[in-house]
Amino acid sequence: MDSSKEWTIHHLIEYLSTYMDDVQIKQIKQAYTYAKKMHSGQTRKSGIEYIVHPVQVASILARLKMDKETIEAGFLHDVVEDTPATLTDIKNNFGTDVAEIVDGVTKIGQVEYRSNQERLAANHRKLLLAMSHDIRVIIVKLADRLHNMRTLQFLSEEKQKQIANETLEIYAPLADRLGINTIKWELEDLSLRYLKPKEYYQIADSMKIKLKERVAIVNQAIDELKQLIDELNIQTEIYGRPKHIYSIYRKMQTKHKEFDQIYDLLALRVIVDNVKDCYDILGIVHTHWKPIPGRFKDYIAMPKANMYQSLHTTVIGPKGNPIEIQIRTKKMHEIAEYGIAAHWAYKQGQFNKVQFNDDENKLNWFKQIIEFQDMSNSDDEFMEGVKGDLFTDCVYAFTPKGDVIELPKGSSPLDMAYLIHTQVGNHTTGAKVNGKIVPLSYQIKTGDIVEIATSDKSYPKRDWLQIVHTRRAVNKIKRYFRKLDKENNIEYGKERLIQELKNNNYNVDEILTQDNLQKVVEKLSYNNIDDLFAAIGFGDINVISLVNRLTEEQRQKAKTVNDLNSEQEILNRSTDDNDDNKQEKEIVHGDVAVEGIDNVLVRLSNCCFPVPGDDIVGYITQGKGISVHRNDCSNLEQIDSSKLVNVSWNIRDKNALYTSYLQVRGFNRVGILNDVLRIVNNTTKMVDSVSGRVQQNKYVLISLLISVHNLEDLNRIITNLKNIPDVYEVERAIK
Ligand code: MN
Repeated sequence: MDSSKEWTIHHLIEYLSTYMDDVQIKQIKQAYTYAKKMHSGQTRKSGIEYIVHPVQVASILARLKMDKETIEAGFLHDVVEDTPATLTDIKNNFGTDVAEIVDGVTKIGQVEYRSNQERLAANHRKLLLAMSHDIRVIIVKLADRLHNMRTLQFLSEEKQKQIANETLEIYAPLADRLGINTIKWELEDLSLRYLKPKEYYQIADSMKIKLKERVAIVNQAIDELKQLIDELNIQTEIYGRPKHIYSIYRKMQTKHKEFDQIYDLLALRVIVDNVKDCYDILGIVHTHWKPIPGRFKDYIAMPKANMYQSLHTTVIGPKGNPIEIQIRTKKMHEIAEYGIAAHWAYKQGQFNKVQFNDDENKLNWFKQIIEFQDMSNSDDEFMEGVKGDLFTDCVYAFTPKGDVIELPKGSSPLDMAYLIHTQVGNHTTGAKVNGKIVPLSYQIKTGDIVEIATSDKSYPKRDWLQIVHTRRAVNKIKRYFRKLDKENNIEYGKERLIQELKNNNYNVDEILTQDNLQKVVEKLSYNNIDDLFAAIGFGDINVISLVNRLTEEQRQKAKTVNDLNSEQEILNRSTDDNDDNKQEKEIVHGDVAVEGIDNVLVRLSNCCFPVPGDDIVGYITQGKGISVHRNDCSNLEQIDSSKLVNVSWNIRDKNALYTSYLQVRGFNRVGILNDVLRIVNNTTKMVDSVSGRVQQNKYVLISLLISVHNLEDLNRIITNLKNIPDVYEVERAIK
């Protein structure tokens, strides 16, 4: 039977009897009867009786060979939302499991996704997973979404596009990660049909035209292969593999190819009984047809993160047509089509209760995926996210607009307010969670919709420091109070400076002239004289070093009188000053934020050359502000750690360039320097300096000063440099 054809309840029951006993089926029938009664009188947008929808959802679940509870939840998934039935009714009639699945499906159904941003989509998927304490919630939701997509033509165009977008960005990827391919490709094709109807029908029509010609070549290839295999006496099933419209569309987009270039590639699948047969058949294929280099992939030895296993190869088939061939066992095939559901059925005999909120089971179920993940060496961001959910403690909350915000567990509405914007945090007056007023100390839970109330007339309270959980919020609140105290600090700072001058027998009126102060303000990059005084008050600047700066001229004058060689001295000094100026060109004021301190001179050190993305730390220098080093800079080992301050990147101009220093070591050969320069030039046009040195006629050391935007840039260059033949080491050196 066509998998997308609608089943009646009789088809469904007949199918269930292939893998369930009579007692289970009897209970499932009760769920059907209950749903039918509750939904009676209701119709779908198409005008048909509502019960058709739950029956289709349960049928899709049955085809995945899901367990009794999941099928029951399939029938009942809309009754709490759309009928007078309550969760308690479901629990009393069908048990806790079914009630919890229905509750989960209802809750995640209320979360609307209205974005086109990939970053938000990833968060949103994590949120749905985190909200679904039982993986069966997601599977029922996928079945629900699939039937809704199949009947999308009855909705308004705007609704169609919105639902199709959500399906493509959220649900198809979820099906993919759970390995449920049958659902994934159908969701993708249906989404494309509504999002890009023109492209969809173009591809579909072109496929129809080509169909006959294709079938002929595929059949010939199948015949040839069958003959060869028969000699080996291996049981196989060989068939032409259908191509999905969305995957053709994607390849045309990403690889910039024409339909013909993609569709001309024929596809075969060979299903066998065991792993040994897979490799035997691969041998036959590669002996009979010429394999195309670089196209062979062994996903049996290295399964994908979603547990997919198969051998893939592409060969030059009959009449010179390239054919993609997939070879796998029956079990691998079921996992490829039904994903986690099939896997569980094999492991447990049936789809056992797998709950996310039961830590042990949660770990067990993820262990599989994570182990596969490690084996496949894939850097899948989603899986990282899932692992993150398990091993770190994050909660996902919503803004009233529906944006998902990721927060550390234990965060309060104030933490969220400060995460959204400092001004939101500073003016918070209260918070509502899921429509109810909560205290600001409320601990946010995953799925909470958090609404922050603000008022221009409201300001931070000191006791907030006891409520907030994130470092960011603590810093912002402290900063607010520092600013508030500024007036006091200006006064105190000024007094402190006058006292220090008096202690050293200077004439205060002579030193604290507008001119003299202004010079220092400019030198240290403060906004004005008040800021300079306040900085003394805050303890951001050392009063003794400030006195030294302010009295420099006076001391020099005194020297001129006392020392005959003074001219030469002063000359030397001014040369030194020039050096200082040179260093100060590297000021990147504002690109690095210093914890708890505003208005301070900051520069990037030119020993370890930090670039945005590096872990960094600030070092308070004598009179030259703060120099920023990489955390692992070896120069930091010898210094007084009390002079270190926390700093963080605060890049405002993404196009700004940062200098970095690399040393490339390799075996000396003609052209190696050219290779190095070519790689660097391909990534950044900014090579500031290059020098090379040959050692013992055998080794070469190339030093490079290059400009990059950030660490990602730099790492890409390093990786590419490492791939140059004869290069054996590339490192970020300390100058
Ligand atoms: Mn539904």
